[in-house]
Formats: sequence, structure tokens, C-alpha cells
Amino acid sequence: MSRQIALVGIGKIARDQHIPAITADPAWTLAATVSRNASVDGVDNYRSLEALLAARPDIDTISLAIPVQPRFDHARQALLAGRHVMLEKPPGVSVSECHSLQTLAREQGVSLYATWHARHAEGVANAREWLALRRLKRLQICWKEDVRVWHPDQEWVWDPGGLGVFDPGINALSILTDLLPVPVHLHAAHLEVPSNRQTPIAASLYFSHPGGARVEAEFDWRQTGDPVWKFMIDTDEGSRLLSFGAASMDIEYRRLYQRMAELVVDASMDMDLTPLTHVADAFMLGRRSSTEPFFF
Ligand code: NAP
Repeated sequence: MSRQIALVGIGKIARDQHIPAITADPAWTLAATVSRNASVDGVDNYRSLEALLAARPDIDTISLAIPVQPRFDHARQALLAGRHVMLEKPPGVSVSECHSLQTLAREQGVSLYATWHARHAEGVANAREWLALRRLKRLQICWKEDVRVWHPDQEWVWDPGGLGVFDPGINALSILTDLLPVPVHLHAAHLEVPSNRQTPIAASLYFSHPGGARVEAEFDWRQTGDPVWKFMIDTDEGSRLLSFGAASMDIEYRRLYQRMAELVVDASMDMDLTPLTHVADAFMLGRRSSTEPFFF
């Protein structure tokens, strides 16, 4: 029997991925939406999460597809109302607010899922197995895209907490932390911040690897033309290039909803905060340069 789910925030990613993934999955029924400006044909819409929670006790799962800054308040409200919660990435604007949500979910006995869609991209699981049998020598991440194409007019990415180029960059970090059999930690970073903005438009990250491998990442939102989302991996037994594309996002989001369907069965939690921790470390350790002002 399918479960009732409500989707909060009918914006870019909700339309591109969440709605198709939910409607294609027999485990779920899209029972309602929460949106101040939009609606989905044939689905009840509420203007606020508060209104939905009050009106629909039958909906036990809430998926939040809103920007990261208002996410904590929404998640907290849903958890306090005893609902299972699924969070878009990144799971919060700070590590400690994610810990607060974890504690609350445990107290309430409900599921909390910090989704990392990029981990489900084609090639990741296979590369993880390949890497587990080899000694890593070097891993370079190149994550470059045009912010005007991928975040058209989204002012929130430039506001505190909006993460700037780390909004896509955290996808790469979610893959990195899933691929490597051992944890790495960031030891240096360089952040380029437009002079009229609060968050970086580009970042270089340098990680310490317990086996001495060189692990680095370059994120840049000033890319024009096609995006470049790739991992170049060198090991003692050969090299591998992992290239990613938007085409696999359909599969990624279907897997997220399949995973959520597993979690709610026994109110389990899946809350890996390592990608967000690396971002927080980059903001703590990063050298900053001021660059040209950015306007959409
Ligand atoms: P978006 O289109 O700018 O915003 C999504 C929706 O959130 C808006 O349409 C709005 O919905 C609601 N919203 C915006 N500000 C709000 C606020 N202050 N309070 C309550 N609701 C608010 O953003 P998006 O691109 O879909 O991204 C949302 C999340 O998905 C982000 O965390 C992003 O990292 C993640 N994500 C995005 C993409 C992508 O390709 N864009 C890909 C993967 C993951 P209503 O007008 O309906 O109220």
C-alpha cells in the first residue's frame, strides 16, 4: 500500500525531479503540496506547512524541497508534529542545526533522511568497489558550471547559509565521502567571493588523506558552456575518469524516494553529515579573496 507524502516548495528541483520521482514510485502518493505561489494539478495545496500539518494528519511524511535557509524551521515543525522528514541537500545551514534535528527526530521516534542525490549517480557504486581494491595516489575533482544556467535568479545562494558554489560543490563532496574507503579531512582552502556577495563563486579545497594521496577539488560557477562535473582518480593499479551529467538525476531522485520508503518502515534515520562538515571546514579554514561583483 502506498504512503501519503507532502512536498514542500514547488520550485526548480521539485518540478524537475521530486514530482516525477514521487509519482513514478508505487510506494508513495503525492497527497499534498505546500507552496505560496504554485500548485500541482489534482493535488491539494496549502499555503504553509503549519496549515498542512493541522489539516492533514493522514500525511505522515514530509519532503522539503525548499532552499536551505528556511529548511530547519520547516523540518523542526514537521518533526514536532510527529511526521517523517526528508531533507534536500544540503541538510542545513550549519552542522549544529542538523544535530538538533537528529536529536528531535530520535525523541519523536520518526525518520529523518539527509538526502545526497549525487551519491546515486551512475558509476559511483562501481567506482567505490574499484577503489576499495587499490591504493589511491591522486584524486582531483573538477566541478564547474554556469551559475546563471543552474541557479537562474536564485538570490538565496548568495545569502549567508546559501553556500554559493558549495551548493553544487557539496554534491561532489557527497560523492567523495561515499567513494573513499577512508575518511579525509580538509587542511586548506581558497575561497573567491564576489565583492557584492556573501558566499563564494569559486573554491579550491585541499584534503589530507591517511595514505598520503593527493586529494583536491576545484569548484567554479564562472564556467560558460557545458558544465564539467568530473573526478580524475589515479591509483597504483590504473586510473579512472568519472564524468557526471544531469541525465542521471532521474535515477538519483527515484533512489532517494526508494530509500525513504525503506527508512519510514521502522522510523530509521539516515543523516550523514560528512559532506556538510567539509564545507564548514572550508569556511573556517579558507583564505578569502574578493573578486568581481556578481549580478544575474
Ligand atoms: P528554488 O527553485 O529557488 O526554491 C524552491 C522553492 O522553495 C521555491 O519555489 C519556493 O516555493 C520555496 N521557497 C523559497 N524560499 C522560501 C522561503 N524563504 N520559505 C519557504 N519556502 C521558500 O530552489 P531549488 O533550485 O528548487 O532548490 C531547492 C533545494 O534543492 C536547494 O537546497 C538545492 O540545493 C537543492 N537542489 C537543487 C537542484 C537544482 O537543480 N536546482 C538540484 C539538486 C538539489 P513556493 O514558491 O512554492 O513556496
